[in-house]
Amino acid sequence: MKILVLGPGAREHAIVLSLLSEDAEHSIVCAPGNAGIAASGVETVDLAFTDPDAVTKFVSDRGFDLVIVGPEAPLVAGVADPLRAGGVPVFGPNADAAQLEGSKAFAKRIMDEAGVPTGRAAKVANAAEAGAVLDEFGAPYVVKADGLAAGKGVLVTEDRDAAIDHIATWAPHGEVLVEEFLDGQEVSLFFFADGHDVVALTPAQDYKRIFDGDQGPNTGGMGAYSPLPWLPGGTEAFIEEIKHDVAIPTVRQLEAEGTPFIGLLYCGLIVTSKGVKVIEFNARFGDPETQVVLARLESPLSSYLLAAAQGDLASLPAPEFSEEPAMIVVLASEGYPGDVATGREITGLEAAEAVTGVHLVHAATARTPSGGWVATGGRVLGVVSRGQNFAEARARAYSAMNEIDLEGGQFRTDIAERVA
Ligand code: AMP
Repeated sequence: MKILVLGPGAREHAIVLSLLSEDAEHSIVCAPGNAGIAASGVETVDLAFTDPDAVTKFVSDRGFDLVIVGPEAPLVAGVADPLRAGGVPVFGPNADAAQLEGSKAFAKRIMDEAGVPTGRAAKVANAAEAGAVLDEFGAPYVVKADGLAAGKGVLVTEDRDAAIDHIATWAPHGEVLVEEFLDGQEVSLFFFADGHDVVALTPAQDYKRIFDGDQGPNTGGMGAYSPLPWLPGGTEAFIEEIKHDVAIPTVRQLEAEGTPFIGLLYCGLIVTSKGVKVIEFNARFGDPETQVVLARLESPLSSYLLAAAQGDLASLPAPEFSEEPAMIVVLASEGYPGDVATGREITGLEAAEAVTGVHLVHAATARTPSGGWVATGGRVLGVVSRGQNFAEARARAYSAMNEIDLEGGQFRTDIAERVA
């Protein structure tokens, strides 16, 4: 197949590596991709990948059998819409269905209509109303700005004044929700969706805080692991429950409203003492959970993405996953998640990749004229490892990470520690 992957990051690198590992040979282009994707032997093209017109022109010039949209920004911008209207198989929802991620208020409404278990929430129109609503919900306070806020829209705090400030900051930009605080372990579970049917992948857990012990500010994700041996009832029962209580009702609700969801339904879940609840949906593969889920996937990824794009998921068996656990440790630049120092040299990548059971995914790297590497952003790369058990996977991941040198580089040392 001729496949176009849209997106610049480590998630897209993981998708590309999964496609390259299939028995069938594909011709893959990644736009814009990154230096790590190029080093994996894939053509990268500098393209305005969030611009529907630019993407449509590129696809019509080059011709593709499948287009995979990685990040949320191009989906919310409507990149999938004209491609799908033109008959191109696209994995990624149209802009209207991508509101499931783009608008927390839209997602809440769909969940309410579909009877999906989630936290109670109330809209707050302005800071004047904030106090009364916060007092009704009680501490800890959860405040969520509507719309894509680059990870800065959600505040969870014990500090009532900080919650009011957050509402005052975001209310002028759109709706703000106050939500019931949900206590428990978080789980990410992905589903391929074809507008009507869904196929589950396998659960993973990510680490959002910058420092060990879940301390410090939230980030895009500093690590992840899969499977989750502590899931109540085991993996299979958990997947069935979420499929029937969350994924199918959500996809059917969107279908009934005339906005079918074709792409990756990311269910951000929390396992509370009163059952599993949804804390968020995303409309695309999660980063870094994708890197560990795909590291365990043994069925051909492209078959599922194409079948989803063509409305034909019901014809496929459940995908198979390796029993071996996988994990990822993310290397970030100094200063991340604040202002980051970039342009610093990275060494030791070859030695890291030589560690058994390890591969690297690049997020923000560039080549130097002499063939070396420099860091170009916050999250720089990820070390993905597999092992016979988590202890082995951890030993491999951290021995590879210790080969890598980046001045001021930061990574967590406790990824998957709780399951090893
Ligand atoms: P979201 O963007 O909605 O996923 O929120 C970002 C993070 O905030 C989540 O991954 C959780 O760690 C936390 N969070 C969101 N909603 C809640 C909630 N209702 N209760 C507790 N924590 C939450």
